[in-house]
Amino acid sequence: MYKAMTIAGSDSGGGAGIQADLKTFQERNVFGTSAITALTAQNTLGVQGVYPQSLECVEAQVDAVLSDIGTDAVKTGMLFSASLIRLVANKLDEYQVNNLVIDPVMIAKGGAPLLQEEAVVELRETLLPLGKVVTPNLPEAGKILDGRKIETIEEMEQAAKDIQAMGPEAVVIKGGHLGSEERSVDVLYDGERFFHYDSERISTKHTHGTGCTFSACIAAELAKGKNIPEAVKIAKYYITAAIRYSLNVGNGIGPTNHSA
Ligand code: PLP
Repeated sequence: MYKAMTIAGSDSGGGAGIQADLKTFQERNVFGTSAITALTAQNTLGVQGVYPQSLECVEAQVDAVLSDIGTDAVKTGMLFSASLIRLVANKLDEYQVNNLVIDPVMIAKGGAPLLQEEAVVELRETLLPLGKVVTPNLPEAGKILDGRKIETIEEMEQAAKDIQAMGPEAVVIKGGHLGSEERSVDVLYDGERFFHYDSERISTKHTHGTGCTFSACIAAELAKGKNIPEAVKIAKYYITAAIRYSLNVGNGIGPTNHSA
């Protein structure tokens, strides 16, 4: 059986983070493993607490999984600090992980910081060059590019090109935040070509965990041997259905539906 690993934060509310990733791996028929970088106390109303784990704890989890079970792909999500990013990058290098999907998680929808401000430099310089695919949304791409505003599809293409030049094999800029567009368009740049992935824009507030789910799906498909454009295409279909049938649980922003 193909295997995928997530190195990310736990969402006690079950909609994002490690929980979303493992549900996605299950739905995409790969065996999922995890290393938890931070615990969050969280529900549909927001993040009530963030508890980063020690370097020793994260290292022990990664070693335990990769020295025995191994993996066909890894995705990283919430890494929280520069020191955790450095550790994870060293480990991915040590185990020669080459199907690496990096979701550069920075801020939760409710505004809680999931990556310390000063860690953006470490993300850019240490982790991004190891990536097969990096999946920023528009605010994250803007932060990686020193505060650039990205407001059109052309600017998304330029941003994808500029982030790809930082070292990863490919970059998908997610257009969900581009409110000016009637459709939801994601732009992939693989170093040679641009690909546009277009879907209807679904009107719902229940979109918690979309980024986690999308990047986990790409990792699962890469684990199975799909190439990058195919993996992104499948992930776009998967996340569109997950948003269309998203769940009205709790009193706030509900999660996407992993089994839609
Ligand atoms: N909590 C954790 C642990 C996450 O990894 C993420 C995803 O990026 C979030 C929360 C944010 O979820 P959202 O912004 O989709 O509500």
